[in-house]
Amino acid sequence: MAGRLVGRASVSTRAWCPVWRLERACAGAAARCSIHGTPQEHSETRHEQPIGASADAIPLPSIPWDWFAVGSVPPPRSVSSLSLVTLPDVPMTNLHAHIRDIPDFPKPGIVFKDITPLLRDPAALSGCIDELAELVKDLDVDAVAGVESRGFLFGTPLAMRLGVGFIPIRKPGKLPHETVSQEYALEYGTDTVEMHKDAIQSGQKILVVDDLIATGGTAEAACKLIEQVGGTVSCLAFVVALDFIPWQEKLGNRDVRALLRYA
Ligand code: AMP
Repeated sequence: MAGRLVGRASVSTRAWCPVWRLERACAGAAARCSIHGTPQEHSETRHEQPIGASADAIPLPSIPWDWFAVGSVPPPRSVSSLSLVTLPDVPMTNLHAHIRDIPDFPKPGIVFKDITPLLRDPAALSGCIDELAELVKDLDVDAVAGVESRGFLFGTPLAMRLGVGFIPIRKPGKLPHETVSQEYALEYGTDTVEMHKDAIQSGQKILVVDDLIATGGTAEAACKLIEQVGGTVSCLAFVVALDFIPWQEKLGNRDVRALLRYA
């Protein structure tokens, strides 16, 4: 089984906890860590250890190691044995730890999910693109469309990873050729998006990508633009979904996927 090499400095205890991996593999299904409680406590709090902590300071979970999937490496017995280990190709970026909450931005009452810590960490960013590719690996798409501007940050590398082209959906007046446009409502305010009329050929299957879905207004506008020119929206993929905002009212019939969900 193909694997990736992980140096000691970038390995935290969560990287080799089978239950953590099981939870990630099940993507929020019924699996729970019997030792550490909820997935959030388990993946984000209990297992993070500072790089360079002594082996004694890092507890090894007392879980049957055969919970690891077939093909994975034997478990390390101590942190000092983690100088270089091969881990199976299972997404394992701790995305939650790389997205910070900024309260009352850009206006009071909004908790802004700031992705810049994720962007500045090359391993986390690459892992995030890997996870997005994994999330849509069952789909056959002709192109990825991303919404300005944070949709470009994730959509373009994802398109490259999938081996398809990227279509920019932009704010008004930015695209030089003939455009179609669509107004939409944000969690804060309203805006319009545009796309080149010739960006998509009739019948092409498009994956829409953005950093976050809140009200679903931006994503819905992107879908309408694509459909205006004869394209089909196969799926919408996000790094973050704010599930406590009822975006389903706008996109309930569509295939919407996300790496991180805030309920
Ligand atoms: P919406 O149209 O309400 O689904 O909003 C989605 C767009 O607005 C995305 O492009 C996000 O980048 C941005 N956005 C909306 N709400 C937030 C938030 N709470 N934190 C970060 N970005 C947000």
